[in-house]
Amino acid sequence: MQKIAVLTSGGDAPGMNAAIRAVVRRGISYGMEVYGIYHGYAGLMEGQIEPMNVGSVGDIIQRGGTILHSSRSEKFKTEEGQQEAIAQLKAKEIEGLVVIGGDGSFRGAQNLADKGFPTIGIPGTIDNDIPGTEVTLGFDTAVNTVIEAIDKIRDTATSHERIFVVEVMGRHCGDIALWAGLSGGAESILIPEVDFDMKEVTYRLLEGNKRGKKHSIIIVAEGVCPAAEIAQMIKEEAGLETRVTVLGHVQRGGSPTAFDRMLGSRLGAKAVDLLREGQTGKMVGIQRNRIAVVDFADVFSGKHSIDLDMYELGKSLSI
Ligand code: ADP
Repeated sequence: MQKIAVLTSGGDAPGMNAAIRAVVRRGISYGMEVYGIYHGYAGLMEGQIEPMNVGSVGDIIQRGGTILHSSRSEKFKTEEGQQEAIAQLKAKEIEGLVVIGGDGSFRGAQNLADKGFPTIGIPGTIDNDIPGTEVTLGFDTAVNTVIEAIDKIRDTATSHERIFVVEVMGRHCGDIALWAGLSGGAESILIPEVDFDMKEVTYRLLEGNKRGKKHSIIIVAEGVCPAAEIAQMIKEEAGLETRVTVLGHVQRGGSPTAFDRMLGSRLGAKAVDLLREGQTGKMVGIQRNRIAVVDFADVFSGKHSIDLDMYELGKSLSI
């Protein structure tokens, strides 16, 4: 394989740039020509394909977001869109594609693979909700962003003896809430995978008050319900006033942690190795701290599950 390309698609995540850099430099180290496709599948269909060199990925390993930009495209889901994409790739004699994105992006990549165009996926999403890999690119940075915010909120919570309800990202997956809640010392962690009992939440708050606790932090994943609703429930249940913070998109940005830079570098290089070996329709992920190669089909049929032991640990430590 002499010419390959890389694109980023769907939600952006810190560490994507490290992965792009690794794809480009690993490819060049094998004597390949490597192309960057701008604006995901939308840009691919329009032929936004530029040659990359060692220098074009210089000074990006520390940057959040994606230098190739990302997009969502309905057209690419159609047969016509996918044929246009393949025609653009073939016009440049590109023989393989690395797709960095979430499971939606992988479905697109699978479609290209089904049509005989070799594709390899790298899991990039802060939510950590992709089956077949224990961790996704951007998750570690997002968790660190959240605990930095919790630490700051804790300062003001302590000074004013307040209860804060902090809403974090995670529509279907509570990993950000769980990891940040545990490492930020939250009093309660509410995640979509586990039904919560408001009586238990308020009991913890009232018991903490009795012991003279100066502050409390409740972390709630957005998929549970808006933080404002939790605040209202606490008021109704226990008569306690709370403050609400919705962290929102700050969780998507920022300079990637060392972990995400390492992860992007490892997965990016491995993706190129797989294309070179003639593999296709697969995701590179991490299992037991080693690189794992997983068929897209297994990613689609799998289910990411929360670590319930960790959830219980969080409960037992925040007494
Ligand atoms: P993510 O990759 O982060 O899950 P999306 O689900 O928005 O993000 O998917 C990104 C893009 O991937 C979509 O805009 C679309 O172009 C493509 N895509 C998503 N689902 C499919 C699908 N079932 N078939 C083909 N392409 C898809």
